[in-house]
Amino acid sequence: MKTAICPGSFDPVTNGHLDIIRRAARTFDHVIVAILTNPRKAPLFNTLERTDMLKACTQDLPNVSVDSSAPGLLVDFAREKGAQAIVKGLRPIQDFEYEWQMGMVNMQLNDEIETYFLMSRNEYSYLSSSIVRELASLGGKLENLVPPIVEQRLRQKFADK
Ligand code: ADP
Repeated sequence: MKTAICPGSFDPVTNGHLDIIRRAARTFDHVIVAILTNPRKAPLFNTLERTDMLKACTQDLPNVSVDSSAPGLLVDFAREKGAQAIVKGLRPIQDFEYEWQMGMVNMQLNDEIETYFLMSRNEYSYLSSSIVRELASLGGKLENLVPPIVEQRLRQKFADK
C-alpha cells in the first residue's frame, strides 16, 4: 500500500491543486490531502471551510482523503499516517527555490520519505490561491480557475465582507 501526502494551505483549493491531487491519486494507492496552517499568513477561509471545500471537490476520487490534523513537522505527520511520499506541484520559476529548500530539509529530517514533484499543467502554471482571492475580491471571473463550489464560497465570503 503506497500512501502519499499532498500538503498545502488550499486557501482556497484551485483547479491547479486538484490537477496535482488527481494525478497523485493515479500513481499512489492512497492520497492524503493535508491542510496546513501557515502561522505567517491569516487565512481567508478557516480550516473547517477549507476542509469542506476540498472534500466536496475530491468526492469523486475514492482513494483521496482530506486531513486537517497535521502537526508541526510534515515528515512526522507522514510517518504517523504510514505514508512513504510527499507529492507537490511545481509551477515554473516561482515554486522552485522554496520547494527545493523544503524538500532538502525534509530529506534531512527523514530520509525514508521521498518528495515527488509533479510539473504544473501549462494552463494552471500561473494559478495560485492568492491570485484567486484577489480576483474574487475585485469581482473578477473565476471560471476555469476554481470549481463552481469554491467560486460560490468566494462570492459569499466577499459579499459578507
Ligand atoms: P503553500 O502556498 O502553503 O505552499 P498552496 O496551497 O499554495 O500551499 O500549494 C500547495 C501545493 O500545491 C504546493 O506544492 C504548490 O506548489 C502546489 N500548487 C499550487 N498551485 C498550483 C498550480 N496552479 N499548479 C500546480 N501546483 C500548484
